[in-house]
Amino acid sequence: MTAFALRVARFGDFLRDHKRALRNLQWVVVAVYAFLLIVPACLPLPTETSHIFNHMTITAQFAFWGIWWPFVLVSMPVMGRAWCGWFCPEGMLAEWASERGLNKPIPKWMRWGGWPFVAFALTTVYGQLVSVYQYPLAVLLVLGGSTIGAMLVGFWAGREKRVWCRYLCPVNGVFGLLSKLAPWRFKVQEDQWRAHHGKVIPINCAPLVPLRHMKGASDCHMCGRCSGHREAITLVARSPEEEVVKIAKGSGWETALIVFGLMGLAVGAFLWSASPWLVAVKQSIATWLIDRDILWPLDDSAPWWLLTHYPQVNDSFSWLDGAMIISFIAVTTVVVGGALYLALWLADRALPGRNALSLHKLAQGFIPAAGCGVFLGLSATTITLIKHEGLGTDWANPLRFTLLTCALLWSLRLVWRMTGQRSPSAPRRLSAMLLLAVGVSPFVASWLLLFVIW
Ligand code: SF4
Repeated sequence: MTAFALRVARFGDFLRDHKRALRNLQWVVVAVYAFLLIVPACLPLPTETSHIFNHMTITAQFAFWGIWWPFVLVSMPVMGRAWCGWFCPEGMLAEWASERGLNKPIPKWMRWGGWPFVAFALTTVYGQLVSVYQYPLAVLLVLGGSTIGAMLVGFWAGREKRVWCRYLCPVNGVFGLLSKLAPWRFKVQEDQWRAHHGKVIPINCAPLVPLRHMKGASDCHMCGRCSGHREAITLVARSPEEEVVKIAKGSGWETALIVFGLMGLAVGAFLWSASPWLVAVKQSIATWLIDRDILWPLDDSAPWWLLTHYPQVNDSFSWLDGAMIISFIAVTTVVVGGALYLALWLADRALPGRNALSLHKLAQGFIPAAGCGVFLGLSATTITLIKHEGLGTDWANPLRFTLLTCALLWSLRLVWRMTGQRSPSAPRRLSAMLLLAVGVSPFVASWLLLFVIW
């Protein structure tokens, strides 16, 4: 073992030996989280003249959507799911509730493989309908509701486990995908596991990772509790491409999350509010409705927890607004995600060695591009808030497109390596690559529309 490998492994042991310190740190994060969640919801809404430094609501908005979420996302490919295991208030509270709970078996419906996609999609769309990035009551409902849900599930099912995180958390799937790019992971050496005959101390892996068969970083929360277990589990550094290219098999639900969730639905959620097309279509539908005296779709008095309703700042959605947002997101999902899926389908057929999972394996290559897209969308709020503070943001677009280009090139490189596993023929590999480059172009065009054209 090299000195560097030894240092990495020792850090795993350090985490294992400081479980209590991690828990204390998590309580501090819980206190900050609760403060940012609850206090702004009790204050009057900010006005045009409010700023980060003089209005708690904008401070909290900047903290949650400007820093917290975008950089938690970035932390996944940088550090694996360390956020989940070291800081996440929701995961910690879920485990804390489970330590005091009923220890019931985990119901079968909760283990359904589609939850990471469905929970992400529902939360994203609902967040847009209630304007979660703008209003503290909506934040309290969406984030606070999720935390209460995590604690109730923790109290009900599993023994000292993070059942919510493992099966139902709306960002579990996203974090699982991005952490496949992490430069380290806890690795199991199966031969040492079998050969170990000493005393075995049982490990409580809160996110329910099957330790012996753990192959990647996707499900592991990096808590370090299993470090050194049976002298077979060690924290190791690795190539950020190793898991995607060599280990990950992919699955239908993961492909759905990458292609239709992160690169389709999420893009629609970030784009709709800037789209002049949506405004034009909405106006023609409204005119058509008024001409026929059908006025109820224009009523904007739905409660704030269903559709954005803040008449005091002239911001209320009508039923038509709600329907238009959902439709815009759905159309973007079909157009942007559909184009990439079709390209994956064709590229898969252009290569030899096709099987039930080969398309899903290729889709894994798009994890960097998908993650970068969500980061760009989330960080748009960061830039808007910085701009509102009167700071220059001319650097933003060059930085955005540099990041997007790097992420796309990385994705194409990953796919190129995967095509090499299926065919030695350069022309076949290149034709597959060409199809994928065309398939991803609507995704690129979406960001051009948002940041340059609109
Ligand atoms: S596999 Fe489980 S116990 Fe081991 S570090 Fe990951 S989360 Fe912790």
